Amino acid sequence: MENMLSDIIVSNRKHTANGQVATYIPELKKANGDDLGICIIDKYNNIYCAGDYDKKFTIQSISKTIVLAMALMDNEWDYVFSKVGMEPSGDPFNSIMKLETNDTKIPCNPMINAGAIVTTSLIKGKNLKDKEERMLSFFRKLAKNDSLQINNSVYESEKLTGDRNRAMAYLLKNDGIIEGDVNETLELYFKQCSIEVSVVDLARIGLLFANYGIDIETGERVISENISRMIKTFMVTCGMYDASGEFALKVGIPAKSGVGGGIMASVPNRMGIGVFGPSLDKKGNSIAGLKVLEDLAQRLSLSIF
Ligand code: GLN
Repeated sequence: MENMLSDIIVSNRKHTANGQVATYIPELKKANGDDLGICIIDKYNNIYCAGDYDKKFTIQSISKTIVLAMALMDNEWDYVFSKVGMEPSGDPFNSIMKLETNDTKIPCNPMINAGAIVTTSLIKGKNLKDKEERMLSFFRKLAKNDSLQINNSVYESEKLTGDRNRAMAYLLKNDGIIEGDVNETLELYFKQCSIEVSVVDLARIGLLFANYGIDIETGERVISENISRMIKTFMVTCGMYDASGEFALKVGIPAKSGVGGGIMASVPNRMGIGVFGPSLDKKGNSIAGLKVLEDLAQRLSLSIF
């Protein structure tokens, strides 16, 4: 298995040259565009890694899956889905357009920025500090890694350049979709995006969703079966933004990307996969990471379809 993964990394590294690291968050420019790594954890807890698997990067939009799980655990589901929709948007991740043109004015789904800002606003806690602590400890529990931390430089950088997210949040507040303090919601959103992970963490979290919310090592139920199913479904329909349809055809597994270069994939009943390649395509997905998953899905017949 590890030889096969090394082969896949070696043969796909060339694709990193066709993309670019994210620049709109200045701190992300520091990433090395040539990096490419993978980790798989299967349901027997075998861990296989190859390439730049030991690099750290910020989780960015992959956090949207975890925060959605929290929002669904903290609130009635009908309430959550009265504020965020269930349909792919077909637009880029940071698009603001449909917030005005949709009849309901709610974001299309929780995997785009506007939708994720809403789910973040639904996290319960006494104050910002309390919400931040709850969030970080939930991420740590899912990744089974107590050392997960917020990368402060990335957080500051997001905050400095996050005006588009601010614009969306204020619009959502104006329309009564976000209740409470908008700035607090934005702070928490910038923080969740800035949590630092490795591909091993992503594979571990992907495995938990693949295993319907049960920790394979301890047998503990961490997330309900229904919530795990909902997260994986959103990953299929919206996880790669306006490239989700092509990804479903070519790869066919639930996956979620982030502009830090990570992709978390979850193969039901089989494995969790973490991929890292910070060189991105025009839609904000890891350009070589997509190729790696395409190869892997073909070699191991992973498509759920
Ligand atoms: N923090 C990023 C943003 O809000 C997350 C986007 C992403 O990973 N696609 O723009």
